[in-house]
Amino acid sequence: MKYDVLIIGAGAIGASIARELSRYLLKVALIDKENDVGNVTSMANSAIIHSGYDPIPRTNKAKFNVLGNKMFDQISDELDVKFERNGSLTVALYDSQLPLLEELAKRSKENGVKVKLLSKEEVLKMEPNISPEVKGALYAPTAGIIDPFNLVVHTVENAVDNGVELFLNEEVINIEYHDELSKVLTKDKIFEAKIVIDAAGLSSDKIARMVDPNIDWKITPRKGQYFVLDHYKVGLVNRVIFPLPSEKGKGILVSKTTSNNYIVGPSSEPVDDINDLSTDTMTLSNIRFQASEMVPSIPFNQTIRAFSGNRATCTRHDFVIERCKGKENFIILGGIESPGLVSSPAIARYVVEEFVKKTLTLKENPSFNPRVKKYLRPKEMDFKERNELIAKNKDYGEMVCFCEQVTLGEVKDVLSRSVPPRSVKAMKKRVRAGFGKCQGGFCQPRILAELAKHYKVSWLDVNYDELDTNILVKNVKEPK
Ligand SMILES: Cc1cc2nc3c(=O)[nH]c(=O)nc-3n(C[C@H](O)[C@H](O)[C@H](O)COP(=O)(O)OP(=O)(O)OC[C@H]3O[C@@H](n4cnc5c(N)ncnc54)[C@H](O)[C@@H]3O)c2cc1C
Repeated sequence: MKYDVLIIGAGAIGASIARELSRYLLKVALIDKENDVGNVTSMANSAIIHSGYDPIPRTNKAKFNVLGNKMFDQISDELDVKFERNGSLTVALYDSQLPLLEELAKRSKENGVKVKLLSKEEVLKMEPNISPEVKGALYAPTAGIIDPFNLVVHTVENAVDNGVELFLNEEVINIEYHDELSKVLTKDKIFEAKIVIDAAGLSSDKIARMVDPNIDWKITPRKGQYFVLDHYKVGLVNRVIFPLPSEKGKGILVSKTTSNNYIVGPSSEPVDDINDLSTDTMTLSNIRFQASEMVPSIPFNQTIRAFSGNRATCTRHDFVIERCKGKENFIILGGIESPGLVSSPAIARYVVEEFVKKTLTLKENPSFNPRVKKYLRPKEMDFKERNELIAKNKDYGEMVCFCEQVTLGEVKDVLSRSVPPRSVKAMKKRVRAGFGKCQGGFCQPRILAELAKHYKVSWLDVNYDELDTNILVKNVKEPK
């Protein structure tokens, strides 16, 4: 299989590059080892569209964060992804922290980010549930929150609709680099490509070493654990609430999500294994303590889940975005930790302009459509609209997940799209069935049945996530 460009990794970075490349008449392959797109770091993060107030000026992080942030109104509209520009507050709880706020305000200015320093009274007026001990805050109105799952799914869907070929369950095990046409090897396939792009997140150093064993950086993963709270307490906080950042990162935040839950976290702990996604009581207690200092009334008794994600922290302490030395048609995107999600569309544009356009002659794709087919979300409709929809298609009147109010119509819709879910978890990421208080206790059998029906397989062969993660193992009696 011969391609102009092959992208390794279908996370936020690889997905955005694929979509950007689909604007041109190119043969592009996007491959991932997972059974779904966006199944690693891009689905386990804070989902904040950071304003760009804290990266060190003139770094890649600062540059791409600020550029990326500005692109999200258009992207979320074109890709029909939930996004809210609700702003952030970085709070000082002690007088000794006030000079740090001023320093951050200066840094924001250098990064070109609009911010405002607020007094205690102004903070409490904006966010009455912040601790009365607060001394002041830095307000960044351009920060926002996004649905990270569908950001990646819809980006890949749009890329595929515009001609990109997606290959899942293809783990790259070796690369034979050649200036003209490189060979990318997976367990049972050989892909050939003029340009190979390494967007492998936590494994970006491993993939880069397949081409240049002497790269001068490596990934030193850092885990971040979180609490997820149910969506009962409306208005706990309306903006993203950060403490002051430290060398470990932006600190433990309190934020609502685009689905009106709250998330509290993340921690920042070094881990040896990139696949270590465990959570532990001690770390979670510490998160709880630190977050409660900022927002004392967080209803932790409404916790429905804890989860963690690993940051692709790298020894260069900045995003690595470069051609491999001496092997110019291998492009490395390494160490894309936070703020990687917000930076992703700007990084993608840069990669195409700086690297791909300077190597290949690009002609615009005349049939490129930046939009995905609109998603119907009955939960967000008024009574009349919903009734009209149900009159046209009764599946939108059949509730599959009561916690998250997901209908059969939505389940069938995502199954009919160009990047359909192949597992229970992939369905959960798209429609939210299983994300609620019962964590799939009610809807999982129904989702399983719909997947089995769609793919014409036995219930026993439906995976929870990766291949061979089937939930059911044998029939104890004949299914009706
Ligand atoms: C705790 C935490 C909080 C964060 N909060 C934010 C935030 O609020 N805002 C923000 O902007 N950013 C945030 N980030 C950062 C953001 O999540 C990442 O920068 C972004 O998701 C990285 O995307 P990616 O595509 O590089 O990596 P990934 O999403 O990990 O994608 C890499 C892909 O490569 C694939 N892959 C790896 N090896 C191979 C192989 N051998 N063969 C084939 N495929 C392979 C993987 O399966 C994976 O799908 C946070 C990160 C963490 C961990």
